[in-house]
Amino acid sequence: MTTAHITSDTDELKALAEQAGRDLEDASALEILQWATETFGNTFCVTSSMEDAVVAHLASRAMPGVDVVFLDTGYHFEETIGTRDAVEAVMDVNVITLTPRQTVAEQDAEFGPKLHDRDPDLCCAMRKVRPLQEGLAGYTAWATGLRRDESPTRANTPVVGWDEKRRKVKVSPIARWTQDDVDAYVAEHGVLTNPLLTDGYGSVGCAPCTRRLLEGEDARAGRWAGRAKTECGLHG
Ligand code: SF4
Repeated sequence: MTTAHITSDTDELKALAEQAGRDLEDASALEILQWATETFGNTFCVTSSMEDAVVAHLASRAMPGVDVVFLDTGYHFEETIGTRDAVEAVMDVNVITLTPRQTVAEQDAEFGPKLHDRDPDLCCAMRKVRPLQEGLAGYTAWATGLRRDESPTRANTPVVGWDEKRRKVKVSPIARWTQDDVDAYVAEHGVLTNPLLTDGYGSVGCAPCTRRLLEGEDARAGRWAGRAKTECGLHG
């Protein structure tokens, strides 16, 4: 796959994204990713939290060898790192691991231990938002696994939209999917999933900020539980 000839004018990209969001609202996830890979070529990547490899799997069907960007915050569960390693070993994708500028030890030395308990927004800004911002710099478009049914804050996620914060096209090919759709795709294609999803976790993030779900909670309720925070800033 070579670099597609695509405008670098952000006004044109924004218009393109918004038009595609309307045109592809009823398209399948694979069709959305085929559009994205044909339009952006190797300036397109998938980001994955390694909760599951569904979007990476779909994208590799659209473009074998597609870049899959994983953000290693230094606070992940072993199971998440293991899922990343398994994806790298068995799937036809190019896994790229981003890391923050500081290790956890360096951050502890400068800001004190457990910054995630005292100022999670600052911790996320340094360990997630900035590394992703820097890691995505060379891409025109990125795909996420956001779904409208995950939480009220994600209910209006477009299948293709404009990411104003990063000034890039943001593709959410499974935005319209339900958990049942994800489960069916995983079963049909034998897609790798994080073992924590069958161990009581509804959503998997950094270990200090993730707990198992209680009965009846929505999938993301175990993230930053007990705090007003619901998102890490990657999707705001
Ligand atoms: Fe820090 Fe928690 Fe954000 Fe991870 S999720 S970067 S540990 S505040």
